[in-house]
Amino acid sequence: MMAQYLGLKAEAEDCLLFYRMGDFFELFFDDARVAAAVLDIALTARGEHDGKPIPMCGVPVHAATAYLQRLIKAGHRVAVAEQVESPAEAKARGGKVLVQRAIVRVVTAGTLTEEALLDSRSDNWCVAIGEAAGGVAIAAADVSTGRFEIVELSADAIGAELARLGAAEVVAAETSAFAEAATTLRPRGDFDSNAGEARLKRLYAVATLDGFGQVGRAGLAAAGGLVAYLEHNAKGALPFLRPPQVSRAAEAMAIDAATRESLEITCAAGNVRKGSLLDAVDRTVTGAGARLLAADLGAPLMERGRVEARLDLVRLFHDDQAARERLRGTLRALPDIGRALGRLAAGRGGPRDLGQLRDGLDGAWHLGERLGEIAEPPVLLADLAPQLRGHGALIDLLKRALVPSPPIEASDGGYIAAGYDVALDDLRDAGAGGRRAIAALEAEFRTKTGIAALKIRHNGVLGYHVEVPARAADPLMAADSGFTHRQTLAGVVRFNTPALHEVAARVSQSGAHALAAEAAHLEELTAAALADRERVAATADALARLDVAAGLAERAAEGAWARPALVDHACFEIEGGRHPVVEAAVAKSGDRFVANDCNLSESSRLWLVTGPNMGGKSTFLRQNALIAVLAQAGSYVPATKATLGLVDRLFSRVGASDNLARGRSTFMVEMVETAAILAQATPRSFVILDEVGRGTSTYDGLAIAWAVVEAIHEDNRCRCLFATHYHELTRLAERCDALSLHHVRAREWKGELVLLHELADGPADRSYGLAVARLAGMPPATVARAKSVLAKLEAGRAKTGGLAAGLDDLPLFAAVAQVEVEARDTLRDDLAALDVDAMSPREALEALYRLKGLA
Ligand code: ADP
Repeated sequence: MMAQYLGLKAEAEDCLLFYRMGDFFELFFDDARVAAAVLDIALTARGEHDGKPIPMCGVPVHAATAYLQRLIKAGHRVAVAEQVESPAEAKARGGKVLVQRAIVRVVTAGTLTEEALLDSRSDNWCVAIGEAAGGVAIAAADVSTGRFEIVELSADAIGAELARLGAAEVVAAETSAFAEAATTLRPRGDFDSNAGEARLKRLYAVATLDGFGQVGRAGLAAAGGLVAYLEHNAKGALPFLRPPQVSRAAEAMAIDAATRESLEITCAAGNVRKGSLLDAVDRTVTGAGARLLAADLGAPLMERGRVEARLDLVRLFHDDQAARERLRGTLRALPDIGRALGRLAAGRGGPRDLGQLRDGLDGAWHLGERLGEIAEPPVLLADLAPQLRGHGALIDLLKRALVPSPPIEASDGGYIAAGYDVALDDLRDAGAGGRRAIAALEAEFRTKTGIAALKIRHNGVLGYHVEVPARAADPLMAADSGFTHRQTLAGVVRFNTPALHEVAARVSQSGAHALAAEAAHLEELTAAALADRERVAATADALARLDVAAGLAERAAEGAWARPALVDHACFEIEGGRHPVVEAAVAKSGDRFVANDCNLSESSRLWLVTGPNMGGKSTFLRQNALIAVLAQAGSYVPATKATLGLVDRLFSRVGASDNLARGRSTFMVEMVETAAILAQATPRSFVILDEVGRGTSTYDGLAIAWAVVEAIHEDNRCRCLFATHYHELTRLAERCDALSLHHVRAREWKGELVLLHELADGPADRSYGLAVARLAGMPPATVARAKSVLAKLEAGRAKTGGLAAGLDDLPLFAAVAQVEVEARDTLRDDLAALDVDAMSPREALEALYRLKGLA
């Protein structure tokens, strides 16, 4: 057995091996140690290996799912080795009687289909990164629903894309440049683009991939690597993947990982959903709807037509409350057909999954009829309604074939409806007749023997048998009693009789035949459902889209949100804007959220926001970024009015000291991230910078903040909100004509600081730092001391002209940059003019000195 075990273990070295032993999965050696620790179960020993006891632990098969879940959550991979023949078959082979086992499946975080192991409200992406012909692409599959995406992108956008998908598992080729980003490494050969093309053709049984749109070499490499990995995990079975959606990253608003984290779009700090934008917006009623909404918010659209189409659908349900409520009521009752289909396709489906398909498709059909009656439907609805109908034959078949609520497991039968198959009905009748005959026999035996306590029972070992109390058993022991003794236990004695034997054989035979007949039907029905799987999946998508639209409409109605107007030029006009997450938190503590306007236009595209700490600067910045995300995802927005030009890239950066929890060299991180913005932001981008420069000394910080504001104003020319406590920056308003000054208002009233959270034009008149300190409960003596220190500092500043003295004499950023470019050009001209072949060594040396002087 150990030899067999070690052989299997060698096939799955990077996994914990679940080795099937009867009713248990057992783990040995290091696997046992790891699993026992993670699962908090007993570590014991079984037998010896190399003279040492073998550590062992085990989990019961019937509870294996729960244990699997904990191991996967803890970041492990599990290979499941099942018995692939029965003990009887093993015996029949003769010789060795060790039952054959094989790894039937590798379970990893990215390849789950079990309902119990998945979160119904989030996608579960397995992502592969591939490269070929100088390009890079990622392929992403959710095998629980068959969704499959290929995105071609630049190498530096990979982080952002992985963040968008929230990948459960990332696969890359060994020794590739992406190995570091990966959780799983696979052989290089799997990521070859030619092999990938062949693999996709085989998967879809097509001769050419042209039907899928333009898939580049890198896309083929990534998709090939992914499919190879999925096949490896399923031990050769082809995964269920719908035809890939091929896209370029540019089709969605670019949002890098740091921005996602800082804006808490789909998950808040600590990787939880609570407190995120998604959580504040989500009013969907189905798992598939919740998954689609998360995907939408993660990838706001860049195409105005598509955004408007989504908004039109939201408006339909926003304006018609009755229709909205009816739709949501219907959707709430529908099962998750996408995931039911995924399980069936993965070969792990059961009767209940078919029942879910039947009910889901039937519900979709009725919904389609109803929605089809809407006069002048929006474009998107006209597209969706036909996808809801069109499974008539399948629904019909499943309705006829299945009982109303089929069991999860097929093993006990009882899921095929009466009347579907005459032969099956006959078998069941025979079984039922047999059971009646057995009941009759029991009565007959009681009369014959006079033993009132006589019973006919059934168990796995003896089958049907007669059981009597030991004290009454003697007469039956007689040779001519007609009863054959089988077993004596404490208190009871068991017998058989020829008549019972005959009836029992009939019952068990018809039972076995009925089970086999049901199993055959299950197979046919599954095949029928899968034959239609692409259209079933499309129906699931259509339901999810409706759920998202109705949910957004509900949210908008609830919070009096407005439909955003999208325009072609780069403006950003928000009236009465609010932050959905902070608003909810503020409302909970009984306060009112103060709505604020924002108006970034060509002549005023950079707002410098000053004001006291806790005054509401960050909230204001973020609410506007979130409004851009919501609008382009096709949602109404928390404002009374909103007009904006599409945002191509969104950036959010927060000064280092707010981020200490991240535990990195935070100032370095802040600078790296800010550098990325300066390199990437375009005039169509939207940037929020919150206290950038704070993570270093005052002079450094002010200098950096100053230069960053100038660069964004002069070079990037994007829409930008910049919050700062460097009052000195307000001087930039005199030099940068598209920069305007704003502040969050505060008042001191009877010696107390009152934060109004209200935005006003112009710079803040003072910093209120001491007042905030007092508000925060700093001891009065300390505040008083700080006050006198401040007075001294301010006196010093008055004398020297202050921190920003002399800055006004600096040439503007663009002019400085220009000078540097000119210097570089002179250097280049000089270099080009050198005739190296004609130079003497001495002339060469002189030229070198001269060039060095220029640099
Ligand atoms: P700052 O960035 O200026 O330090 P924040 O934006 O972090 O301030 O806001 C601090 C707190 O003030 C928030 O947690 C919230 O409770 C409250 N707040 C912010 N903006 C508003 C608003 N517009 N209306 C009501 N309360 C607000």
